[in-house]
Amino acid sequence: MKRLYGIIGDPIEHTLSPDMHQFWYHQDHVAHHYHVFHVTKDQLETAVQGIKALGISGCNVTIPHKVAIIPFLDDLDDEARMLGAVNTVVNQNGKLIGYNTDGLGFLKSLEHHQKEHLPDHPKVLVIGAGGAGQAIALTMAKYGASCVDITNRTIEKAVKLSRSCQAFCESNGISLTEAENGLEKYDVIVNATSIGLSEHDSLIPIPIENSKSSAIFVDIIYNFETKWLRLAKQQGKRTLDGLPMLIFQGAISYKHWLGHLPKLNGIDAFLRNKLEERHA
Ligand code: NDP
Repeated sequence: MKRLYGIIGDPIEHTLSPDMHQFWYHQDHVAHHYHVFHVTKDQLETAVQGIKALGISGCNVTIPHKVAIIPFLDDLDDEARMLGAVNTVVNQNGKLIGYNTDGLGFLKSLEHHQKEHLPDHPKVLVIGAGGAGQAIALTMAKYGASCVDITNRTIEKAVKLSRSCQAFCESNGISLTEAENGLEKYDVIVNATSIGLSEHDSLIPIPIENSKSSAIFVDIIYNFETKWLRLAKQQGKRTLDGLPMLIFQGAISYKHWLGHLPKLNGIDAFLRNKLEERHA
């Protein structure tokens, strides 16, 4: 049977999710459709009622609704409850269940692309304590990091997040200067801020110089290679951009909806082509 899925957010016009999910529907020979729903903050409650009323099978949730949608859902899974945010909704026979695949998407992308270079219990620095930073820090803490330190422009948010991470491993909320001076400590250094999101952004989240030679630099921005990642590469570091995280979080959503993971071959090149077309 043909099913309808989609994504709700504001702004939403630049999302790659429809391209990704339609690619997988095609690969799986199913005729489902993935639609972009532009939903403003004041429309959220009625939009969620609409998912039930229209029999939409599921949707992804993006900025600014990941936290605000929770009171309108019937239940949450453990990851969404831990993260206090939802990026995937499953319509289970009229009951809306919230999931969060951002953190596990990040972890799986790191394991997939840096498997042989990733220590068993890495020491991780997360720069940024917004929605993505929280998902990454808590997931890395829960799933095996020996230490997760967090730095953020608004340091209070980093300290608060580190207190939650302390349930799983050593964790400190630190200033940017402390992070920069102690950069040698970390196996994985993640930019989860929006610094670099504009192609003309000359800022970088943290200088690279003090890091150890084996450190892995991850920038979760996926629209293009950021200046920070380019600099890290030039200095001989291992790097990973944000497209694999986008793909893995999408693949885990797909599994919640359709019961199996999509095949991952071909999707990275397909989406990079889409991004190139957009920038041409
Ligand atoms: P939020 O708005 O929740 O958080 C933004 C973060 O960036 C905060 O930590 C904020 O600090 C920091 N920040 C913003 N501007 C500056 C600045 N000028 N200087 C220093 N810090 C700054 O956004 P998200 O967490 O949802 O998204 C963050 C980034 O991650 C975006 O670039 C987004 O595109 C990307 N992303 C990628 C995903 C993927 O699948 N690859 C998934 C989700 C997000 P403060 O707290 O002080 O405001």
